[in-house]
Amino acid sequence: VTVHLVGAGPGDPGLLTRRGAELLATADVVVHDRLVDPAVLALASPRARLIDVGKPAGRGACAGHASQARINALLVAEARHGATVVRLKGGDPFLFGRGGEEALALEQAGVAYEVVPGVSSAFAVPAAAGVPVTHRGLARSVSVLSGHDLAGSGALLEHLSAGEGTIVVLMSGATHRRLAERLVAAGRRPSTPVLVVERGTTPEQRSWRGTIEQLAAGDAASFASPALIVVGEVASLALASYEQRALAGWRVVVTRAEHQARTLVTALGALGARPVELPVISLAPPLDGGAALAAAAARLAAYDWVVFTSTNAVERFLPLLRDARSFGAARVAAIGPGTAAALGERGVLADLVPPRFVAEALLEVFPAATGRSSGAPTVLLPRAAEARQVLPQGLRRLGYSVDVVEAYRTVRAVPAPGALEALENADAVTFTSSSTVRSFVELAGRSRLPPVVASIGPVTSATAAEAGLSVTVEAETSTIAGLVEALALYARRAGRPGARAAGAALGARSRNGPGADCAGADCAGDPLSRRTTARTPQQPPGSLRP
Ligand code: SAH
Repeated sequence: VTVHLVGAGPGDPGLLTRRGAELLATADVVVHDRLVDPAVLALASPRARLIDVGKPAGRGACAGHASQARINALLVAEARHGATVVRLKGGDPFLFGRGGEEALALEQAGVAYEVVPGVSSAFAVPAAAGVPVTHRGLARSVSVLSGHDLAGSGALLEHLSAGEGTIVVLMSGATHRRLAERLVAAGRRPSTPVLVVERGTTPEQRSWRGTIEQLAAGDAASFASPALIVVGEVASLALASYEQRALAGWRVVVTRAEHQARTLVTALGALGARPVELPVISLAPPLDGGAALAAAAARLAAYDWVVFTSTNAVERFLPLLRDARSFGAARVAAIGPGTAAALGERGVLADLVPPRFVAEALLEVFPAATGRSSGAPTVLLPRAAEARQVLPQGLRRLGYSVDVVEAYRTVRAVPAPGALEALENADAVTFTSSSTVRSFVELAGRSRLPPVVASIGPVTSATAAEAGLSVTVEAETSTIAGLVEALALYARRAGRPGARAAGAALGARSRNGPGADCAGADCAGDPLSRRTTARTPQQPPGSLRP
């Protein structure tokens, strides 16, 4: 039995270490700080119990030892119960994270533990805002301080200020003015560049650039926890920043079935968006339990063609075969590159993929049937129960005998309690099929539609129009990548949906009050809120929590 003290990184789930991700995926219990981004928590095993030991919103005071003692006791108790415990801490566990204290407590209790270092916000957040903490000719050293210690560490700050090295101040909440005064008193020029970054490496990252003088004047006062301050000549650099990503700040709803959402979620995240997973459909077995599909699989080699119109169909059908030889001489068509890739993964190379990824385009390139002695050539079409008639009708017109076999059904999903509320501050919604459109309207109605509607292609757009939704962007190429690209192009023109985001963040701040910058890491807060949270990966930390 081991407790794993894991650094969660600064926010971006891509910056979690591989070891950290591995442990999260297999943990029984995850004890985490409020600071840990929901996108990182979402990587925890679905059966893991999540325990939030962050300070409750509204508690400004940094409590320290009492609650830290209770966290220590909790770790020991869970470990003794035989659970695999991940203690997940923002950034690196040993940098202003009290990870050392927890390790000592475990050692004293005779509980085995492992430390998994993390990417610290101290270096990653400046980098994500375009500032290298050291840079030839500008800074040859960097110091990391805690804003809470400013009162006590005057001498230390003076010592550091005297040089030219970069100073990174964590937990900098209510200290802007005092910090600025100290820095100047110790000899730094009032015109020294300063960078303030809030929620660095996340889709909500915001930053401010100015000088010590402007910091003193309160120009960055609206920046709140978690935020850090960088002081020094390097802060004048502005290299590539997370904030420049095409979808930075966009909250984008993904309506695809849960098991299919991953690629879209990842692609949106890579462009800086905050994906909001709201699966409105799920897949169910065919009404006959798959009997017809199994029968079709058994006589597969008798067909001239097999046409796959979705990865779902591939995933349902291929496991019924002994191996790829079961296709015999049958040729294989795939409606698009995603479907073709799913076939490829199973050793089947599609013979035909149309230039546009809709049924109509497949019909345009499908060879006309050439007669054979034993009657019309045959096509097997394993697909969703409720699919359009375009393809079977068109193939019959081309002279084929078509067997449409139900491979799965698309049914409306039951959203998790409260999940629909995430729509209220979403900026865009993505529809990847007609069934996602129809189920969305059934579940959420039209009134909760986010301002921007992105559709994967003409068929989905037509369904949206029929349902009374006006489509803002349509993918030029009907693939997940095409959809994300279209949305990114639109976002480039429309700009960051900033006003709403800033408003929401301000709401959360006013609840926390000044000085609430403990972020649950160094200052665990009081009382210990031992709460097993529901999975709401769409919720950013610090906002929207009652
Ligand atoms: N162990 C953590 C730091 C814990 S102290 C680490 O290595 O990163 C908590 C402070 O870290 C916050 O008050 C804030 O100053 C800083 N911080 C953490 N994550 C941040 C983020 N995403 N953006 C800006 N500052 C962050």
